[in-house]
Amino acid sequence: MEKSYSALDTALEQLRIAAEKLELDPGLHEMLKYPKRTLMVSVSIKMDDGSIKTFLGCRVQHNDARGPFKGGIRYHPNVTLDEVTALAMWMTWKCAVVDIPYGGAKGGVCCNPKEMSKGELERLTRRYTSLILDLIGPYRDVPAPDVYTDAQTMAWIMDTYSQFKGYSVPECVTGKPLSVGGSEGRAEATSLGVMFCVREAAKILGFKMNEARVVIQGFGSVGWNAAKIAYDWGCKIIGVSDSSGGIYCKDGLNPYKVYEHKAKTGSVLNFDGCRNITNEELLELECDVLVPAALENQITKANADKIKAKIVAEGANGPTTPEADKVLNEKGVFLIPDILANSGGVTVSYFEWVQNLTREHWTLEEVKQKLERKMVKAFNDVYKTSKNEEEPMRTAALMLGVGRVAEAIKTLGLWP
Ligand code: GLU
Repeated sequence: MEKSYSALDTALEQLRIAAEKLELDPGLHEMLKYPKRTLMVSVSIKMDDGSIKTFLGCRVQHNDARGPFKGGIRYHPNVTLDEVTALAMWMTWKCAVVDIPYGGAKGGVCCNPKEMSKGELERLTRRYTSLILDLIGPYRDVPAPDVYTDAQTMAWIMDTYSQFKGYSVPECVTGKPLSVGGSEGRAEATSLGVMFCVREAAKILGFKMNEARVVIQGFGSVGWNAAKIAYDWGCKIIGVSDSSGGIYCKDGLNPYKVYEHKAKTGSVLNFDGCRNITNEELLELECDVLVPAALENQITKANADKIKAKIVAEGANGPTTPEADKVLNEKGVFLIPDILANSGGVTVSYFEWVQNLTREHWTLEEVKQKLERKMVKAFNDVYKTSKNEEEPMRTAALMLGVGRVAEAIKTLGLWP
């Protein structure tokens, strides 16, 4: 039986492996196991029916040795403090791997946005922002979107923060709408970063993107945009899924049409010309590229052996357990780990923050070019480390990320 892994178990095991390979000072390893600061909040709001409801939330700041804390805010019914702590730790390594001057943080509120009205979500967001207000700010901690939060959520955060300050502070949050200082290309940045990594990996494995059969788990922001980009690049998308299940079509589907279908019906299921399949079947499809773009713990010891993809590119954070990692590695699957694969999102968040601080606005072309340069460099850094150290891509990425953070801590020294 596989030990059941929480996201935090996975994150701590990954840190242990990196610490061992890096021969990290045990004191430093111990320090990095814990977030620097955690704030738990209870977010009470008035619901549309006049009742009062309280939602538990938190903001976890893992490490800021390399720069201000950075990371998204997640709204989901399964949010726990452990999960957000793991996600904050992954942000620290991610920002270091892609080499942007940030530390790592994450926020979460345990709620079900699917059952809430826009007004309720706005009140929740503003109240939550007011509760974490002392912790965040352009030079302290910069939130962004994550699961079930979006540009609108970020606009409410910006407005709440700005109202408290008394002047407009667009640089306090990233992933905003274009109309209030958002960056061109931010909405699809995570997915474009994933696809740049897939393209680099495909070059190494010797196949062309327009020959690739692609399967995508999750049809939220990351999954849907990845499907769109893959389709535009000429890939054949043979399967996609959302929280209600998956669809399969061996001749390939048009994600734009699936998107319209989901907007109308609420899910990707029962799409014309496709067969409905379960999420488990989706992961096990015969394909070239599998992009898990949903939640944690999707590829486990129970199904890792059945994965047939040549490349697994982790659009989600923490989709693979450490035991599954071993199996995929033994099978020779080319795994592009989350802290590399999905780092395009926070990279364009960084571009947005720089544009806000300098009161500039870059074109979409500029953003895409800069993102491509960052992603290709990060991919090659990780790939070279993997070759030199004879370690899997995940271990290599962790060694790079944890190594850079450890170096920063050593250089800064430990105050007092
Ligand atoms: N939530 C995204 C992630 O997990 C983006 C974070 C950000 O832009 O700060 O990487």
